[in-house]
Order: sequence, then structure tokens, then C-alpha cells
Amino acid sequence: MNRVLVLGGGQLGLMMAEAAARLGLVVDRYDPERALLLPGTSDLAVPVSWEECQERYPVITVEREAFPEEGLSADLARSDRCVARGALQVIPDRFTQKSMLDKLGIPTAPWVTLDKAEDLQAAVAQFGGVVVKARTGGYDGRGTWIVGEGGDLSSVPAAELAGKAIIEQKIPFRRELSIVGARSISGETLFYPLTRNWHVDGILRLSLAPANACSDLQKPAEQMLKGIMEELDYAGVMAVEFFEVDGQLMVNEIAPRVHNSGHWTHEGADWSQFDLHVHALAGVPLHALNVHGPSAMVNLIGTPFESAWLQHPGVVHWYGKSVRPGRKVGHANLVADTLEGLRKGLDAWADVLPEGYQAVLDSELGLG
Ligand code: ATP
Ligand code: MG
Ligand code: MG
Repeated sequence: MNRVLVLGGGQLGLMMAEAAARLGLVVDRYDPERALLLPGTSDLAVPVSWEECQERYPVITVEREAFPEEGLSADLARSDRCVARGALQVIPDRFTQKSMLDKLGIPTAPWVTLDKAEDLQAAVAQFGGVVVKARTGGYDGRGTWIVGEGGDLSSVPAAELAGKAIIEQKIPFRRELSIVGARSISGETLFYPLTRNWHVDGILRLSLAPANACSDLQKPAEQMLKGIMEELDYAGVMAVEFFEVDGQLMVNEIAPRVHNSGHWTHEGADWSQFDLHVHALAGVPLHALNVHGPSAMVNLIGTPFESAWLQHPGVVHWYGKSVRPGRKVGHANLVADTLEGLRKGLDAWADVLPEGYQAVLDSELGLG
């Protein structure tokens, strides 16, 4: 195949390039911040022009949702070669994203816009607990304010957010789940099993796949993701985060890219989400997937590399980034034959991770 260009210079694009290299395909990366091209998995960064991109890259994909307003990355993201072009017009703004979900009849947390500061009080009267979300730019819980029923609203900068945020009802969910799947250039689709996710301070800490007791939810989740990918005429891997409430799924948000909650697929499935993404863009048929027993993915957040990790069962993926509090610097995948085996593996990891991990690693992996 010809080369694929991924817009973004982060670890997700790097993992796509690694997968591509192993599959005999080529993914190059364009770093919008440095305005430089990174060929394949190389660190060598070189300038590139619109004309060279046109010549080399018939397919353009993305590893993130937000790009500078102007410049080469903006032009490439808007070009008709970009398989995420439609998604980028809708997903990055929570107003247009939620409006699309409503239009498609896909359940999502009830919501209103925050147009003026007083709307917050009105939403509290309507919903009880609320979650205020900046329309654009939020991630890892940044740009999100959760205020439970009767909670203190003073932490929400409502006047500052006027016209730039939405307010959702706070959902008393039982679990958080996600689905990762792919749609190929020719419209074929393939999905991983639902994954259960645990967040701490708005940041994903732990994923477990396949999530337990989800057999009734798998098909509805696939149908929702398929409907969204078709609506956006999207190709590649996309993820949807859900709340499970009263045995039903409600969409929290959509990520038009490979997703952190799909990182378990590196060791937990025969084709990882990065393999699948590259195959979907290269027009390789998306054959059935084998999932290798229960898998857990532990995000390594704001912690230096520890050689003790390597003495435990599990595979470490280290991104080589500088360590800052709250920054995702790697992940570790554990695969076992049984949930009990996975439990043992996570217990061992709990001993070698910093404080703050123990509670989540102790989580009930069953129905809980
Ligand atoms: P990500 O890093 O996944 O992109 P984000 O910053 O875009 O996260 P959300 O996923 O919208 O933010 O919200 C972060 C977390 O806050 C959710 O995973 C969930 O735990 C909680 N949350 C968000 N919306 C609601 C809601 N309506 N009701 C209850 N909890 C919520
Ligand atoms: Mg998000
Ligand atoms: Mg999220």
C-alpha cells in the first residue's frame, strides 16, 4: 500500500507506526506543534510541504481531535484524504457531538447548554447533580466539573464558561464501559468486546476486557458505534465510552481514534487496535479477532520507570516521555487464563506501583 500519514506527534501515532512496520505497511507521523514529519517510528524529524504530502499520502488519519486553527495540520485534517474529516467537524465540540447523538436517537446523559451563568442554577433545579463540561479542549477530566446533588456550585467558573460549555445530568452509573471498533475504507466493521474502565480524578487508571456480564450489551454497543462511524463516513478505529445504568448503555463520549481503553489489545488480542486501524486504512479485510482470555491494562501515570515492574507478569509499554504529575507515561498489560489469575497479577502490581493505585487495583473484577 501507499503510505498513511497520521496527524499528531504523540504515543498513539507512534504505536500505529510500530504496528504498521510489523505488518509491512508504512505510517508516517506529522507533528503539528513542531511542524515536522517523523518518518515511521524514526525520531528523525524533517520539514514537509503540502505538495509532498499530496504526493506521498493518499490516506490521512489522526491520533487526536484538536489541531491548530491554521497551518499544514489544519489543511490536511480538512482535506478529503483525511478519513476523520467528518468526525473532526462534529466530535471535538461537545455541543455538536451531543446534538449528533440526539439526532441518531442514541441515549446520552440529558444535557443543556451553558449560555449564561444562571443556566447552571436552572440545570441543578432540573437535574439534581450536574457535570459541567467545556465544549472543546477537555481531556483526562480537565475541563469537567462534577457537582453532586446539593453540592457546592462555587467551584464551577460559570460566568467564564458562558457560551463555551454544556451541562449534563450527573448519571448514577453502575459501571463505565467502552467499545473499540473499526470501519474499513470499504465500509466493513469489526469490534472488540466491551471493556470496563475505572477512572481516578478523571483519568483512566485500569481497564478490564472482556468486561464481565455484558453479553446483552455487546450488540447494542456495536450498533451504536457502527451508526456513528457511518454517519461520519469514518474509516479507522473509533471508541465510544458508555455509562451502564439499569442494564442499559448511555453514551458518555466518542473518541474518533485509537483509544486508551483499547490498549489491552496489544497483548490481549491477536490483532491490536493499532493493527486494526492500519488494516482498516490499508483496505486489508478485517477478519475475525481472537481475544486471549481476560486482560487488564494499568495506565502508568506521572510515575518514573521502575525496573521492579519487569519482575512481574505483564508487559510494560513505556512511551519515553518526560514524567509530570497526571501525565500518561506508559501502560502495563496483563493477560491470564482466568479472572483469578488476573487478580493475582494485579495484586503483584499493586505492590510496585505508587500510592493511589491500590484502591483501583483492589477493584472487584466481577459483576461489581
Ligand atoms: P477523556 O480523557 O476520556 O477524554 P474527558 O476529559 O473528555 O475524558 P469525560 O469522559 O466526558 O471527560 O468525563 C470524565 C469522567 O467524568 C468520566 O469518565 C466519568 O467518570 C465522569 N463523568 C463524565 N460525565 C458524567 C456524567 N454525566 N455523570 C456522571 N459522571 C460523569
Ligand atoms: Mg474526552
Ligand atoms: Mg472520557
